[in-house]
Amino acid sequence: MKNNIKHNIDKATKTGDWRNVTPIVDRNKCIGCGTCVKHCPDACIVLKKIKEANGDEKKLAVIDYNFCKGCGVCEQVCPAKAIKMVMDS
Ligand code: SF4
Ligand code: SF4
Repeated sequence: MKNNIKHNIDKATKTGDWRNVTPIVDRNKCIGCGTCVKHCPDACIVLKKIKEANGDEKKLAVIDYNFCKGCGVCEQVCPAKAIKMVMDS
């Protein structure tokens, strides 16, 4: 799915260690719709093909934590409630 964010993540600054909440994708709930990919303001989510235990293929949202800022937009827009923001300890 096309990403609507225009900036080039290859040239983006890495987040570093200040993020204190981390989005976690539940691979069992993710339906691979790509909504989070389109809305992430840091363009750090991609869909990847994965194989499930039964051999079926599906698409899964994969977050690049080097660039994620922990804003929570992905959690808010996910129609499958597959992303949860988790406070870092
Ligand atoms: S928390 Fe924000 S920056 Fe991180 S993946 Fe979700 S939408 Fe993108
Ligand atoms: S919005 Fe939710 S269901 Fe859709 S790809 Fe992202 S995590 Fe998966």
